[in-house]
Amino acid sequence: MATPVLHLALIPGAGMGHLRPFLRYARLLVHHQYCRVTLITSHPTLTLEESELISSFCSALPQVNHIQFHLPPVDAATAKVTDPFWLQFEAIRLSDHLLSPLLSSISPPLSAVISDMILTFCLLPITESLCLPNYILFTTSARMLSFLSCFPAVHGSKSSASSASFDGEVLEIPGILPIPKSSISPFLLDPNSRFANIFMEDSLKVPKLNGFLVNTFKELEGQTMEALNGGKVVKGLPPIFSVGPLLPCEFERKDQLGTTLKWLDGQPEGSVVYVCFGSKAAMKRDQIRELGDGLMRSGSRFLWVLKDKPVDRDEEEELDEVVGDDLKESMKKQGLVVSKWVDQGDILGHKAVGGFISHCGWNSITEAAYNGVPILAWPQHGDQKLNSEIVVMSGLGIWMKSWGWGGKALVKGEEIGEAIKEMMGDESLRLKAAEVKEAARKAIGVGGNSEVTFKTLIDEWKKNN
Ligand code: UDP
Ligand code: UDP
Repeated sequence: MATPVLHLALIPGAGMGHLRPFLRYARLLVHHQYCRVTLITSHPTLTLEESELISSFCSALPQVNHIQFHLPPVDAATAKVTDPFWLQFEAIRLSDHLLSPLLSSISPPLSAVISDMILTFCLLPITESLCLPNYILFTTSARMLSFLSCFPAVHGSKSSASSASFDGEVLEIPGILPIPKSSISPFLLDPNSRFANIFMEDSLKVPKLNGFLVNTFKELEGQTMEALNGGKVVKGLPPIFSVGPLLPCEFERKDQLGTTLKWLDGQPEGSVVYVCFGSKAAMKRDQIRELGDGLMRSGSRFLWVLKDKPVDRDEEEELDEVVGDDLKESMKKQGLVVSKWVDQGDILGHKAVGGFISHCGWNSITEAAYNGVPILAWPQHGDQKLNSEIVVMSGLGIWMKSWGWGGKALVKGEEIGEAIKEMMGDESLRLKAAEVKEAARKAIGVGGNSEVTFKTLIDEWKKNN
């Protein structure tokens, strides 16, 4: 085997949705004969799920050098954020004094750093001073990257680099489909929110980075990728590479007994609606009950991953307390409700699954695309409405826009049931989703766009070495 000539440091942000694509990409790199990988993670992680995943990754790939840095404490009141994930991001952003000595002393010296966007604020000055190429593995869509890149324009700044501007209630960004104001997180529209401040700081740094790796592919976001790389969105952006879909790996598996898969084995092909709102979106009790009612009314079988807490779920919690006694009893005949972590990749790849009610976190969308599973989009917060637009544009799914952001208005079971019937009964949606699946597989197959990009990046890093 050839001696590695490249040494890459991967530095993920916080939360499973950020960590997983990094570990998936790290695995691809490790298996390349020229690459040595150092994984740098912050400690402690916010959730137990993250620390378990890191341990399992390190056991599966012992050749990876794992370094941890200890996060400084952050006070929620000073940071002006309450969301635990954003508080964790704040702590990471204050870690430059830890990252600087760490990166300069790594041996053998690094060829490049691949980091989460969240770290740019503290990391870029360090990589610049060390003359280290700094790439971002962007954990959400290219559409979100377009939005982030021209963020100053969202707040009225007239710059020569971007001609993005609001036309009434719509944000017009050259080269990409307009973004309705209603799809933008209210926090990002409020110039005084910490979320908006962070976006502003980061968007100004985008042109200084060496490149962006986006977990996407042509069929999902070809037009947006072209606009970004053609200088339409913002002039002077670094190259943007599509590297997706990044697939779930063996080390991510948690359900050793295969409980959910065994249940799915007993269901007819394409009959089950899978319901999961990602690793952190938690629904309020009244909405949970309406969703349960909607699933029952739809007449479809269902596999529902129930979560009512943003950080680690409490498996002790009794299901009947969350969904109510009556509903729990009647649901048993039609579906399976679980409150623990499931192996989503395996579930979406199971032939019994015919539809997916999703919050449209970007990883979930790419995983559904890879498996050709139609989506009923129900965005809850953050980037999820922009992502839902991609679901609709690509033909992968449907979105009831009138439902609004999660938690704002109570969506009744009747409406939910009708939407599920629409998704499960739409033959053309199924066919389109199958086309997206083919395109996803082509992108990462030999000679596909993402596979070629992988080699291009290795060559680029070798040149800089
Ligand atoms: N996931 C999983 N099991 C669960 C919940 C989530 O495997 O019970 C995975 C899912 O497959 C995806 C990730 O966790 O890879 C969630 O990322 P996404 O971007 O979809 O949403 P987020 O959690 O960041 O909101
Ligand atoms: N983001 C960014 N810079 C930041 C913070 C966030 O570019 O400093 C991006 C990041 O990729 C994140 C996305 O904005 O995933 C949407 O933010 P959200 O609150 O939805 O976070 P997520 O659910 O992805 O953790």
